[in-house]
Amino acid sequence: MDATLSAGEPTLLISRSALWHNVRLIRRQLAAGVGICAVVKADAYGHGAQLVVDALRKFTPGDSEADHPCVDRVAFASMDEAAQVAQPDCPVHILRPIEGVYVSGHREAIEHAIRNGWILSVLSVEAANDLARLAQRMGMRARVGVMIDTGMTRCGAPPALVPALLDRIRAHAAIKLVSLSTHFVSSERRGDERMPSQLAQFLQLTSPISSEMPGRLVRHAANSAAVFAFPRAHLDLVRPGLALYGIEPSGRPNLSRPLRPVLKWVAPLVAIHDVNPGTTVGYGGGWRASRLSRIGLIPVGYADGYSRRFSGSASVIVQGKPAPVVGAVSMDLTTIDLTDLPEARVGDVVTLLDSDPLSPASVYELARIDQTIPYEIVARLGARLRRVPVDPADLEVPEMESEVD
Ligand SMILES: *Cc1c(COP(=O)(O)O)cnc(C)c1O
Repeated sequence: MDATLSAGEPTLLISRSALWHNVRLIRRQLAAGVGICAVVKADAYGHGAQLVVDALRKFTPGDSEADHPCVDRVAFASMDEAAQVAQPDCPVHILRPIEGVYVSGHREAIEHAIRNGWILSVLSVEAANDLARLAQRMGMRARVGVMIDTGMTRCGAPPALVPALLDRIRAHAAIKLVSLSTHFVSSERRGDERMPSQLAQFLQLTSPISSEMPGRLVRHAANSAAVFAFPRAHLDLVRPGLALYGIEPSGRPNLSRPLRPVLKWVAPLVAIHDVNPGTTVGYGGGWRASRLSRIGLIPVGYADGYSRRFSGSASVIVQGKPAPVVGAVSMDLTTIDLTDLPEARVGDVVTLLDSDPLSPASVYELARIDQTIPYEIVARLGARLRRVPVDPADLEVPEMESEVD
């Protein structure tokens, strides 16, 4: 890795070739004609939504699929998120439902969405009526999708209300129903008994209308885990998030399925202090040198998403070797013990989150230490970190190379 890339600034290096590799791996699971909707919510799981959308839409993978756009659609959590990215040349899904109460307060945002043809989620008759009124005044048709709750009890229309809701939506000339979807409760475990019954309920609720509108309704259910574990749920379109970024939804590296992590988080080693035995390091003085020690300083802290729980438990990588985090991670700074790495120098590039899935600083290891899931480790990466596209040579994942390339 080129040290100048990170000179002075903590940086997320984003590998577009890894992103394309993961898309190809996902595409390979799908029957011909099944679309991919890239989930880029939460700033593309911390990777930088603009950069990821550009890589997925503007660039081509540079192989036999070159004349094929990488993905067919993108999904954001909210209209606000979508508005922060230059309008991509493909359909945009907004996952968060338009609530009835919310329409008047968000009129401009909704009009912007309608004008751009974004697919808006509608779960209630009230929201459908409000949306239709807005679209009609604009002389346009709003494109809507309905997510059906088959067990999440989160943001889906209750099955009992679905027939009436769909009738109501179709009665509005100013609304065009384009998408029907559901979301799985648990798709991480192969053989989870809820997935087939959720899918069966979804198909039963949507098959009548789907056969009435052949080719005009896109039905989708599968997130990353279901892409790999549950081919029957692929339907017309899949909605992978985590797998695009090269992370296993199970939370463990899987050497037989070589997803390639897209992100590597680096920061410069800005200072090294030689300290005497007995010296304490960091807030609270929680770590005390037991020997003559070299303490390194990195300009990254919990405000950047480097958890305070990493204090005394995580490792960073310096010159290819692990160095333990010592003392309390603070808001903007982290201290590491370099006593056993005499070759470390100020200006060295330190890796806080490694692209190698087997690294002591992998997303899996950090999630384990923080008692969370890899999703949270990447989704909370701070806004002040630079996101820099790199391509393709600097991500070394030798064990993970496969026939895919
Ligand atoms: C976040 C999300 C996804 C993507 O899930 P992954 O597990 O990251 O693949 C798909 N569908 C919906 C509705 C989501 O909210």
